[in-house]
This record gives sequence, structure tokens and C-alpha cells, in this order.
Amino acid sequence: MHELSVCQGLIGQVERLVAEHGAKRVTRILVLVGPLSGVEAPLLERAFTIARMGTSAEDAELEVHEMPVRVWCDTCQMETEAALNRLVCGNCGDWHVTLRSGDELLLKSVALDIPEQEPAAAG
Ligand SMILES: [Zn+2]
Repeated sequence: MHELSVCQGLIGQVERLVAEHGAKRVTRILVLVGPLSGVEAPLLERAFTIARMGTSAEDAELEVHEMPVRVWCDTCQMETEAALNRLVCGNCGDWHVTLRSGDELLLKSVALDIPEQEPAAAG
């Protein structure tokens, strides 16, 4: 399953953040997924429950935000939403468009449980 290796990659990124911040565990992970990324959100969520086992993200909640496909049109200089299988301008129908969003697979944010620092002893 492609989604599992994707999840393992995301968890790898999360584990680096955990180490950097000296966190105890991860409480929440937000991932942005576009339909052109080749990853399906429900499969990603399912793979996540496997990939997180034995990691500091073991109890973490995964939130997947599905991004719309949006294109920028060179002809009318507008950004519009496009259909997945028809990447043309939603305004004038021109195909001279640049993809603005829809192919992301991005670790957007991670909520960490960081132990409070012991107050420094006076003196
Ligand atoms: Zn246009």
C-alpha cells in the first residue's frame, strides 16, 4: 500500500520534530492532501494507525484536510477551481493554466506534548 510508505515518511518528519523539541509525545497531526498527490485520505488515515505504532505518535490524532484543485490562468489572470480530470480555467476554459494547489502532500502542523521545564533553582 502506497499510503503506508507515505505515512512512514510523515511519521519520520514528526519524530524529528519530537526530538528537536524534547517532546514526550504527539497529540495531533494535520496533513494537507490534494487529489493529485496520488494519496487517498481514507487510506492515509487507515495506514496511519499502522505506521504510528511504537512511535511517539502512537496516541496522536490524524487530521487530513483535502485540498481543492486550483489553477491559475495566464489568459484571464484568475485563479479558479478545476476538476480533477480537466485542468482548464474555470472562467474562460483556457488550458494555459498553472497548478496552484491540489498536488500537496504536506505535514501542515504537529501538536506536541512538551514537558514543562523545571523552574531554575534560585541562586
Ligand atoms: Zn482563463
